Amino acid sequence: MVTRILRDLVAIPSVSPLSNVPVINYALARLDPKLWRVRRFPYTDPAGTAKLNLVASTHASRRAQLALVCHTDTVPFDPAWANAIHPVIRNGKLYGRGSCDVKGYLACVLAAISQIQIARLKKPLAIVLTADEEIGCVGAKRLAKKNAVRARYLIVGEPTNLRPVRAGKGYGLAEIVVRGKEAHSAFPAEGRSAIFAAGRILARLEKISRKLATQKNRDFDPPYTTLNAGLIHGGTAKNIVPGECRVTVEWRPIPGPNPAWAADLIREALTGFDATLDVKRIDPPFEPAAHRNLSRLMESLSGNRSTTVSFGTEAAHIGMHGEETIVFGPGDMTVAHKTGEFVPVAELHRCVTYLKTVIEKLCY
Ligand SMILES: [Zn+2]
Repeated sequence: MVTRILRDLVAIPSVSPLSNVPVINYALARLDPKLWRVRRFPYTDPAGTAKLNLVASTHASRRAQLALVCHTDTVPFDPAWANAIHPVIRNGKLYGRGSCDVKGYLACVLAAISQIQIARLKKPLAIVLTADEEIGCVGAKRLAKKNAVRARYLIVGEPTNLRPVRAGKGYGLAEIVVRGKEAHSAFPAEGRSAIFAAGRILARLEKISRKLATQKNRDFDPPYTTLNAGLIHGGTAKNIVPGECRVTVEWRPIPGPNPAWAADLIREALTGFDATLDVKRIDPPFEPAAHRNLSRLMESLSGNRSTTVSFGTEAAHIGMHGEETIVFGPGDMTVAHKTGEFVPVAELHRCVTYLKTVIEKLCY
């Protein structure tokens, strides 16, 4: 059952630029309209494509006991990868784009609820499906703004090898624009090199990364906020003193200190330069809950100890108002976003059992 659902889901192309409505419709077709109350949150993306967030609940109450959250988009794939949307099972693994990130979890959710007597649930169960996660948790942020997801416990699907994840780093992205003055390179005194200035700024960025590393959170590996200058673009020709240089900087803040701390330090480091910092994104960290009821339950079911992750998830956006949120799902994040992405079939079956048990324990 779960593999059939997953094959169907992989066969529906849902890379982020496409509409996610076909995936939502597939999921909706598996929810009995007599048992589920559905709230739709449509929007149009900047390219004019119809996108849809959906919250389905078994009760009229807006606050669920348990919410199962899953994004419906995938990253793009190489058109030469024949199995990207023509899934195959080989050696106990189901291959296809999204099989691991994160249609595998969605298939498990749909399979689990089909094995449960929904009418018997005493406490509300919700299914939350989001759009545009892979391009910056856009759908989840929209739901958060509307306060549309309220739940005591949340399980956000991402490939974690069935290991409960109870906290995650945030994400920051910014561009430093360094301005100089163009001149013929034979007469450098006539100009001012933006690249030389950028070089001095880079040395300061390295110092900042060491300062960020002094604030530790031992739950993480590495146990501090990391900083990366991943892109640099400057100059127009070898014989022109460069008039501009741009450096793209990314940081992953640990829970605890202000997630904008790195941005504050960078801005400070730019004083004295003709340079500006354009902060493009600051996603807060996924803060760990005060208690661990849900993560302990998932630990005992899966036999896996809970952990933390250094990548961003929707948990940071829609998981912070309940009592406890975990990230959980079949598959391994290191095979996601690659040609040949797969999920082990055995993990799918185990995940269905765990979700069924969690729903019964928390909602019956
Ligand atoms: Zn994902």
